[in-house]
Amino acid sequence: MRELCFAAANALALPFAEVADLARGSRGCLFTFHRAASADLWEKLPNRNFHVDTSFLDKFLTYLATNGWEVVTMSEAERRSASSDRTGRYVNFSIDDGYRDTFEEVAPLFRRHKVPFTVFVTTGIPDGTLPLWWAGLEDALLHRDRLILGTQTIDLGSSEERRNAYQRIAASWDGPDAPKHYAEFCAANGIDIDAMHWKHAISWDMLEELARDPGVEIGSHTVNHARISSLEPDAAMVELQGSRKRLNERLGLDVKLFAFPYGRSGDCGPRDFALVQQAGFHTAATTRKGVLRRGVNRFRLPRNTINGGHRSLAAMELHLTGLTGAVTGIVGRG
Ligand SMILES: [Zn+2]
Repeated sequence: MRELCFAAANALALPFAEVADLARGSRGCLFTFHRAASADLWEKLPNRNFHVDTSFLDKFLTYLATNGWEVVTMSEAERRSASSDRTGRYVNFSIDDGYRDTFEEVAPLFRRHKVPFTVFVTTGIPDGTLPLWWAGLEDALLHRDRLILGTQTIDLGSSEERRNAYQRIAASWDGPDAPKHYAEFCAANGIDIDAMHWKHAISWDMLEELARDPGVEIGSHTVNHARISSLEPDAAMVELQGSRKRLNERLGLDVKLFAFPYGRSGDCGPRDFALVQQAGFHTAATTRKGVLRRGVNRFRLPRNTINGGHRSLAAMELHLTGLTGAVTGIVGRG
């Protein structure tokens, strides 16, 4: 069934992309995701669409290598998009926020394939100042069979029940009070909030090791995972320059790459692209879908988010051809 869907997607998508290649030259595709988990863990995770199954990622990297796609850093992708080179197809993977699994799962996999990747760090995560409520909630729902939630006690059984509970609770917490709800939840359930943070966060030690790896490129993703468009210019600059300064202090890097948290059309616009440039960055990535073509604005690079639930090469092929970006462009989203 998967192969049939793949064939159908190819029949639809390939001519579209190849005609565009003839007219517009080389094609780049930037992918992004947040977390990665082994296939057996992935099956059980309460928020599994937020995680990419490493066995699928392994298969996808093999597929790219055998189909003429070169995996490059984001700086190299941006350089190619600005050059007059009219041949070649390239992809980049960027992993956002800064979770422990970027170090433990993603880095070894990419090293095995001998390809580079980019990490966009929200510096409040390794600094331990940004509560990872979504990760802690998911962990508790995965490991506990009974939880206290406000005045209720909830019993959890199947993975589906745990997924439904995650959706319900995360939706009710989401917003500025989420850290407060999470702190109360941890206290009521005897969860050590600090230990839970370090179970899921990337540490500066891990980032130092990644920064020494020639196959790893590091960029900024603000201090507090801020939605830049919602901030006054001064506050936005604190987020942009603050994360850049912190990465420089801890890793000795002059960071030139930025990725907007959230990053869809409503989350970043022309004012924000200008602020990113003023803060000293050379490029900024969004989560608007689409492919990289010559002449793309380097402060609004499109990136295609890999939804962990879409474990099919056909779904990836639609991104590689630019068809998902074209569709969202037509219907006015992304
Ligand atoms: Zn993010």
